[in-house]
Amino acid sequence: MYLKKFAFISLFFLGFELSAAPIKHLIQMSNPQSHYFEVTTTLDVSKETAKYIDLKMAAWTPGSYLIREFARNVEQVQANAQGNAVSISKVSKNTWRIALKPGLKQIQVNYLVYAYELSVRTSFLDDVHGYINPASVLMYAPQFAKGPQELSIIPHKDFKKVSTALKNVGGFNYLAKDLDELIDSPIEIGNHKVWDFKVNNIPHQIAFFGQTKVDSVKFIADVTKMAQEAQNVVGAHPCDHYLFIMHNIQRGTGGLEHLYSTTCSVSRNAYDTPKGYQGVLSLLAHEYFHLWNVKRIRPMALGPFDYENENYTHNLWFSEGITDYMADVITQRMGLVPTDAYIQNLAVEIANVENTPGSHVESAAGASWDAWIKYYRPNENSRNSTISYYEKGSILGGVLNMWIISQTKGTKSIDDVFKLLYQTYYLKQGRGFTDAELENAFSTVAGTSAATFFKEHIYGVKSPDYAGMFNQFGYAWTDANAGKSLPFLGFNVNVGRITSIYKAGPAFAAGLNVGDEIVQVNQVDFAGVDKLLADKKVGDVLKFRVKRDGIERTFDLTIGQTPLKSFAIQSVEKPSEAQLKLRHKWLGGN
Ligand SMILES: [Zn+2]
Repeated sequence: MYLKKFAFISLFFLGFELSAAPIKHLIQMSNPQSHYFEVTTTLDVSKETAKYIDLKMAAWTPGSYLIREFARNVEQVQANAQGNAVSISKVSKNTWRIALKPGLKQIQVNYLVYAYELSVRTSFLDDVHGYINPASVLMYAPQFAKGPQELSIIPHKDFKKVSTALKNVGGFNYLAKDLDELIDSPIEIGNHKVWDFKVNNIPHQIAFFGQTKVDSVKFIADVTKMAQEAQNVVGAHPCDHYLFIMHNIQRGTGGLEHLYSTTCSVSRNAYDTPKGYQGVLSLLAHEYFHLWNVKRIRPMALGPFDYENENYTHNLWFSEGITDYMADVITQRMGLVPTDAYIQNLAVEIANVENTPGSHVESAAGASWDAWIKYYRPNENSRNSTISYYEKGSILGGVLNMWIISQTKGTKSIDDVFKLLYQTYYLKQGRGFTDAELENAFSTVAGTSAATFFKEHIYGVKSPDYAGMFNQFGYAWTDANAGKSLPFLGFNVNVGRITSIYKAGPAFAAGLNVGDEIVQVNQVDFAGVDKLLADKKVGDVLKFRVKRDGIERTFDLTIGQTPLKSFAIQSVEKPSEAQLKLRHKWLGGN
């Protein structure tokens, strides 16, 4: 079956011989339950003068900053020219070298790719559907990267639909203008629902996989509203079409942005509750806003990409964190999230960041640079040593927005920073921005230098003056924990086992470790922190009996006062005209 199909396809493929692309891929899936995609990559080597040509697999996928080594899923690589075997050998973990001889015109490389990880960063195939993140399925030839790339798909006979943002050139045949476009265009194959709609006259499509109880009419109306609000930020849309691929599964895994599309994975029950539904819209807003921020308004390092190595930037707090902030702004502006709830949530988000010890250790810029080794590879000490550039970046985005609004007396906002970056670097210069250019954009829009802000809060770990900032907008900033005696142990525990230790807290000082199994405290069997603290106060000494590496040890822990904040933001009774003006610019009419 497999071989027979390949033979048929070889003939079929000859039809492409005269086209311009020097590299063409064919993806088949004759046995979907095996989870293997059968790939044929055809290279036009008629103009090659070297003794060999290399094919490579990407080591990572744009938008997800972790080396994933996609080559590990590749098997049975073979090369032939008109049916005769050609020598191909592996020269590095992700590079296959094909020997060339004079007179060779075309080489076909066949390989299998195992795909059984359904996340937005990987690929998947089973008897129900296939999902292709091209970075993880297709080999590429570096010298052909800047030119056109063709792709043909032969879906399994039971799969009737193929959804991708790639340009369709008839049937299930597609053309990408270069490697970046090919890699950045995921593909859904199966029998999913397809919904077409327009946003400001631009065709949009949702490829909706999985069974849910979604009200599709309302959902499409809300996605349309969201997309309109997102477009209003910059005021121009970079695409002539857009595709949302949605995977509705038991446990969602987030979203990944692409050049003309996104893949989002959510819980299939998310549509059942207002909070879950809001979460779906917020995820879509985040990914959709990436169309501008990161896909086009981008740091220098994030495009064109080096697919084999880490691509370092200080600016993920901006590209990811502020995208998260803008997702909140967009859902607030479209009226999905009431303003009061939005403000209360802001207080909770700020507290989360300020209560993370790592936020006072590693800067937002440092955490961005370290994404490859920290954010995507967390361990039990991560909370003590680093901060999520999503969470901190989102807070910094909010504070920077308020800073611009207050500096310009309510005439400018963060929207103007996006407009400026889009015009200057994407449209006019067709490139990313440098660290200095990003800072400059904030200075230009605010009409005053952002240097101190960047030095202290982006490249430094100093906390912004939240109280002062909110005061300018007519809000009182309070910490509900201030002045209260609140006992604190400084560890997290799961079924009696310590899972994390709060840096420099009581457990840390006592010498307790992650992994310790708490047997007794003050000679009473341990039954959870709440029960333990019910009749204790700050200053009490507790005798912990723990099992560490199978051996019992005892430690004296002195209960401390909580260092955790519980922030609240409340409007002052009679905001001044000036405060209301700033507030109106910040929150709009909602
Ligand atoms: Zn993102």
